[in-house]
Amino acid sequence: MRIGVVGAGLAGMACAWTLARQGYDVVVLEARDRVGGRTWSTVLPNGVVVERGGEWIDADQHVIRRVCAELGLPLAPHGVRFHRRRVDGAVQSLAELEETLTAVAARVPEDDCSVAAAFAAAIGTASGDPAFLRICTSTAGDPSRASARFHVARAEGARIDAAARVVGGNQSITLAMADELGGRVRLSTPVTAIGVEGERAVVTTPEDVLVLDRLVVAVPLALLDRLSWDPGFPDTWQRGLEGLSTGVAVKLSVPTTIGAPPDGVQHPGLPWWSWNSLDPGGDLGVAAVSCFAGGPLAREALAVDDGPATWLAALAGLRPDLDLLADQALLTDWETDPWSCGGYSFVLAGRATDASALLQQPQGPLVLAGEHTAGAGSGTMEGALRSGLRAAETVSAT
Ligand SMILES: Cc1cc2nc3c(=O)[nH]c(=O)nc-3n(C[C@H](O)[C@H](O)[C@H](O)COP(=O)(O)OP(=O)(O)OC[C@H]3O[C@@H](n4cnc5c(N)ncnc54)[C@H](O)[C@@H]3O)c2cc1C
Repeated sequence: MRIGVVGAGLAGMACAWTLARQGYDVVVLEARDRVGGRTWSTVLPNGVVVERGGEWIDADQHVIRRVCAELGLPLAPHGVRFHRRRVDGAVQSLAELEETLTAVAARVPEDDCSVAAAFAAAIGTASGDPAFLRICTSTAGDPSRASARFHVARAEGARIDAAARVVGGNQSITLAMADELGGRVRLSTPVTAIGVEGERAVVTTPEDVLVLDRLVVAVPLALLDRLSWDPGFPDTWQRGLEGLSTGVAVKLSVPTTIGAPPDGVQHPGLPWWSWNSLDPGGDLGVAAVSCFAGGPLAREALAVDDGPATWLAALAGLRPDLDLLADQALLTDWETDPWSCGGYSFVLAGRATDASALLQQPQGPLVLAGEHTAGAGSGTMEGALRSGLRAAETVSAT
């Protein structure tokens, strides 16, 4: 049986890697000249590895941790609390955080409401609340459209605040898989059209047309409707996608002259934050600071379209403890990246129920994968990886 996989992110690579290990004849078609998709690790001029995309691996994300172990990739702790960041000089206690989250969850009606509405109902003007800022930043979508049922519930994992990252970079996961797959991964090969003829899938690239027994489509949500589908995009998947939207995610990485004690600091008014993680081989934080901005409001306020200058000035104010090497700053804007067209998916208010159940149904020879199909794990590396393993299971079961 010949299997095609479109997209060499964590989802597509986990799927192809699993199927190849089971003896299937697999080919991965990837538009970019690299694997990893929205996991992209880079070394700054001072030698510090930074993540331009997915970075934090939570304590309870067991599948990605297991796969890292299988690939021989060590994990290092961030030494920074993701869920309880410093805001205006103070760190919320766990008891305070839990009190807020419980109050907010109690105000979410049976048929759901937006994150902004739930916080407003529970604590009044929520704009400066640390839990609200944290959830808005990570959701990366408009808080007045994002589902409180989904995105506030997810924050309940805040108790175990011990996230990690892969030493050497999270992209090592897909790079290690690519090593095993060898020539079965075809880079710089964008798929333009997907068709179904009888029981087979037909895939068009600028160079050739491939006929395959099964095709796993693991491109980002925002790119699904840029492909040409014959005979049309499957209705079941379309219904699933109606519950989701793509958020806005931008990152800024800046080397510093020396390492400082690790810290995570949230901007008090806008959905962006910064952190300098523990150096796995040292005593302090790495000599670099990373920032993440989530949602259209933050991207606009930080004037990302004009380059890093506005954000750098704001960062210097937020982190006076760091000596920034501002001229070596690296801005990564996933919004304008043609192969992601946005950050990652978020769940729309009132639609939290069954998107993933619909998206996970195979349609003839076609199977969908990617973070947006991962239900509770959507928007994460864990979810993307799990979706790829689930797609491989679907292929081998049919
Ligand atoms: C800034 C940012 C920060 C994040 N932070 C975190 C975090 O801290 N923790 C976490 O768990 N998650 C985080 N995420 C989310 C996580 O990175 C993603 O959920 C995950 O990497 C998505 O994997 P994927 O395989 O579904 O998609 P992708 O990695 O996007 O892979 C899809 C692939 O399809 C390719 N492609 C697209 N169109 C075509 C085509 N027509 N033909 C061929 N190939 C095509 C793309 O080039 C890409 O390589 C973050 C994401 C961003 C953007």
